[in-house]
Amino acid sequence: MPYLLDACQSAGQMPLDVQELGCDFLSATGRKFLRGPRGTGFLYASKAIMERHEPPVLDLHSAEWVAPDRYEMAATARRYENWENYIAGKVGLGVAVDYALSWGLENIQERNRLLADDLRERLGMIPGVTVRDAGVDRCAIVSFSHDRYKPEEVMQRLADQGIAIGNSAPGSTRLDFEARRLPDLCRASVHYLNTEEEVALLAAAVAGL
Ligand SMILES: *Cc1c(COP(=O)(O)O)cnc(C)c1O
Repeated sequence: MPYLLDACQSAGQMPLDVQELGCDFLSATGRKFLRGPRGTGFLYASKAIMERHEPPVLDLHSAEWVAPDRYEMAATARRYENWENYIAGKVGLGVAVDYALSWGLENIQERNRLLADDLRERLGMIPGVTVRDAGVDRCAIVSFSHDRYKPEEVMQRLADQGIAIGNSAPGSTRLDFEARRLPDLCRASVHYLNTEEEVALLAAAVAGL
């Protein structure tokens, strides 16, 4: 059974080591913590899985038609690529990856951890607000709920003050939501470019609802 890890929310906010993770495939998007162009992403495939896995569709890039009844797949993960592709987006994604690497993923993670933990601490002190993040090593996405306001209302009220947050409903992570009986959640993502002042402003805006 192939092990595919969807790392869309992780790529660009923490180091990812496919050897250590032991995954066969890892997929990610460019437009989230990597800060790359929308409509870009990448797939990693291990050498071992490529010995027994064939893509559902083969295109010019991915295989060579070597005899009337035979084709040979590309030896590399190129076999998963389409022939036609989004060149400008790929260039932008490459620049975004280089930019993240120039800061260093360890440094990005450390900075994000500082900001996110600060935000959790500030939100946790507000009456009626519950921080919902589980796990020991928590990431830059801060999930919380408010006793009196639905996420849409919180989002709107914060947007009026120039603060952008998102929300999460069971449809995005049904297993976790149902197992933990979570209400719809507000989701505030910090990144290294945010400042401590902005974190304090966000918490103050929630406190002022
Ligand atoms: C955002 C996200 C996706 C989809 O990424 P797109 O950029 O919309 O293609 C897939 N899986 C997870 C876990 C995500 O967070």
